[in-house]
Amino acid sequence: TMLTASMDTNDFFTEAHPKLRPVESPTAGVFLSGMCQGPKDIPETVSQASACAAKVIGLLVKDKLTCNPCVAHSDEMMCNGCSSCEKVCPYGAITYQEKEFRMPDRTTQIRRVASVNPAVCQGCGACTVACPSGAMDLNGFSNKQIMAEVDAICK
Ligand code: SF4
Ligand code: SF4
Repeated sequence: TMLTASMDTNDFFTEAHPKLRPVESPTAGVFLSGMCQGPKDIPETVSQASACAAKVIGLLVKDKLTCNPCVAHSDEMMCNGCSSCEKVCPYGAITYQEKEFRMPDRTTQIRRVASVNPAVCQGCGACTVACPSGAMDLNGFSNKQIMAEVDAICK
């Protein structure tokens, strides 16, 4: 799914942050305006739509976009395509790819492996916790780094 939307108890979309990101959905690059967020009058809807347009123009005028470097990635050799990571990702950053792997006995095997979209990943780390095979890791906060920190604290 492209839009991993947060909904309130009345099934309206909720913004990423009510004060700091009022026209953005939690998914990067997807914006919200108007009645999808709840009942609104026309002036409020128009001003919100203008804010969305300004946000989109702000993205499109740049030649390059800077992203958070602390994003998740999967080790394709360890991933078994179980979907646990995709189910917990609140931003819809994980999809799957069929990839061909060459086996030690020279045969080839096609396997389904997780793939993280670095432009959408927000580095929350939920997928690394959910992954049962330890295939998912977070740049800058790898499982190895976290365990080293825990070891140092417990000394
Ligand atoms: S770190 Fe968070 S946002 Fe990024 S892929 Fe994992 S669950 Fe999704
Ligand atoms: S949870 Fe781990 S093993 Fe399962 S699909 Fe995601 S990365 Fe692969």
